[in-house]
Amino acid sequence: MVDYVVYGRGSFNQLDEILSSHRVEGQPMVFLLDHHFENNDAFKSRIPLRGNDELIIADVTHEPKTSYVDEIASLLKNKFGQVSGIIGIGGGSVMDLAKAVSIMMTNDGMAQDYQGYDLVKKKAVYKVGIPTISGTGAEVSRTCVLTGPTKKLGMNSDFTPFDQIVLDPELIKGVPKNQNFYTGMDCYIHCVESLDGTFLNTFSQSYGEKALAMCQEIYLKKDQWDDNSDEQLMMASYAGGMSIAYSQVGVAHAVSYGLSYLLGTKHGIGNCIVFNHLQEFYPQGVDEFHKMVDKHQIEIPKGVCANLTDAQFDTMIEVSLGMKLLWENALGADWELKMNREKLRSIYGKL
Ligand code: NAD
Ligand code: ZN
Repeated sequence: MVDYVVYGRGSFNQLDEILSSHRVEGQPMVFLLDHHFENNDAFKSRIPLRGNDELIIADVTHEPKTSYVDEIASLLKNKFGQVSGIIGIGGGSVMDLAKAVSIMMTNDGMAQDYQGYDLVKKKAVYKVGIPTISGTGAEVSRTCVLTGPTKKLGMNSDFTPFDQIVLDPELIKGVPKNQNFYTGMDCYIHCVESLDGTFLNTFSQSYGEKALAMCQEIYLKKDQWDDNSDEQLMMASYAGGMSIAYSQVGVAHAVSYGLSYLLGTKHGIGNCIVFNHLQEFYPQGVDEFHKMVDKHQIEIPKGVCANLTDAQFDTMIEVSLGMKLLWENALGADWELKMNREKLRSIYGKL
C-alpha cells in the first residue's frame, strides 16, 4: 500500500515541505510532469524545484512503453548517478511512468524484465504520485501498466506502490468532458468488475461499494459537475483502486488489453468501447453505463475492429486470453470452459 496520503483542496502547496525530509545531499528530486502542463507557466512555477532538481516533461501521447522508462532512467543515472526521488504529476500514464522509473533507478537490466508478478527485487527510490486526472486508481495500485516488446503488462510488486500521494481535487478541475468520462468510467468499471468477481472479499467490497456509489452520484444523480464532483471522483478513484488491489478486474479489462496492444487504443476509452457490449457478463452495470453515456452525451466509438484481418484478431485474442487472473476473477476457476477463442472473436467482432 501507499505509505502516506495527503488529501485536500490546495494540498499541492504542501509539496515542498513533504519532500524536504526525503532530500539526499547532492541528489535531485525529479519531477515528471504530464505534457498537458508543458506551457502552463503558472502551474510549473508552483513545483518546488531546489538545487539540482530536474523537471522532465513526460510525453504521454502514447501510454507508457518500457523503452521510454529505460530512456528516462538511464538519462537520470548518467546525469546524476542516483536521485532523491521521483515525483509524477499527471494522469494515470504519468503515475505509471513515475513508478516504473523509480523502480529502474535501483534494479538492474531493462524495464521489460520486470513485467509480471513479483519480479522486482530491490526497493525503488522514493516516489510520489500526484494525480491530475482521476479514475484509474494508478495512484494507489500495486502495478504500473507498460507496453513492452512482447506484452502489455505491469510491474506488479510490493515495491511498486508510491511512498506518498498528494490528492488535491483542485488539480483535476476542468479536465475536458470526454477525458473526464473515459477515465471516470475506468473507475466505474473497476468497481463493477471487482464487485462481480469471484475474488471478491470484504476488504475489496468495502472500498468497491463506496467507489461505485460515488460514481453513480456524480455521473447519474447530479445534474451539474461542480467542485464536489471533483472531490468525489478523486476519492472514488482511490477507493476503486483499493478495491482492485485486493481483488482483480474482469472481462472489460481482459478484452480491452487486446485492443490496446494491437491498436494502441487508450485505456479509458478502450474500456468504454468494450464495456458497451458486455451485457451478457455485467447486465446491470452495462445498463447503468448506457444511462451515463446518454446523460453526458458521450460518443463511444463503434466499428473499431471492422477492417481487421484474421491475424490481427488472433493477436488480440492471444493477448486477452493471456490475462488468466482477470478471466478467473470474472468467470471462476473453470473459466476456460466458459471463454474460448471463438467466443472472444465474436466479442471483438462487435466492437
Ligand atoms: P492519461 O494519463 O493517458 O492522460 C490522458 C490525457 O489527459 C493526456 O493527454 C494528458 O496529457 C491529459 N491530461 C492530464 N492531466 C490533465 C488535466 N488536468 N486536464 C486536462 N488534460 C489532462 O489518462 P488516464 O486515463 O488518467 O490514464 C490512463 C493510463 O493509466 C493508461 O496508461 C493505463 O494503462 C493506466 N492505468 C494504470 C492503472 C494502474 O493500476 N497502474 C490502472 C488503470 C489504468
Ligand atoms: Zn482500468
